[in-house]
Amino acid sequence: MELLERAIKEKGKVLPGDVLKVGSFLNQMMDVPLVVAVGKEFRAHFFDKKVTKVLTVEASGIAFALSAAEQIGCDMVFAKKSKSLNSDGAAYSAECMSFTRSCVNVLTVPTEYITKDDRVLIVDDFLAVGNAVAALREIVLQAGATLVGVGIAVEKGFQGGGDKLRAEGVDLLSCAVIDDMSSGEIVFRK
Ligand code: 5GP
Repeated sequence: MELLERAIKEKGKVLPGDVLKVGSFLNQMMDVPLVVAVGKEFRAHFFDKKVTKVLTVEASGIAFALSAAEQIGCDMVFAKKSKSLNSDGAAYSAECMSFTRSCVNVLTVPTEYITKDDRVLIVDDFLAVGNAVAALREIVLQAGATLVGVGIAVEKGFQGGGDKLRAEGVDLLSCAVIDDMSSGEIVFRK
């Protein structure tokens, strides 16, 4: 997606530890038209999959999931990273090693928010080694729902999570795939 690649080139900052900082346009401050455009890409790719729910994880996946769900015309659910005090009922849960924070979070979603009849599209801002998507897939599995695909704004292809999903036959759409940024220069997959 050219618009996204251009924004990453112009505003993204490569940090040590294979981290791309996108706080000024995709994470903490949002380029809203760009986030909306990503949602439209997801809709264009997954429109015939009869998606009934878009699932993401707080916090940085929410904007992209909301944009996708609005385009598709379905509800959006996000997994919380810790059990909140007002969660009284049963919940699906899955452990997830955080790439950027180097800690283990337990992702939770109340069982009433995803049912076995749901056709779920997983959405996130980044795909690196694939832990977040794996944990969200585990929640879809626990719900007995159907995973229809995964939509990602930025995949860091050199970290392998995306290619693993493709090898497993998962319908993965990544709007931008970075194949290398080791020298500080960002190289996109053709
Ligand atoms: P994974 O679980 O695939 O290793 O990493 C994906 C998760 O970690 C995403 O939810 C995302 O929020 C975060 N993440 C991974 N790499 C980056 C990065 O380079 N930049 C930012 N901003 N977030 C990242």
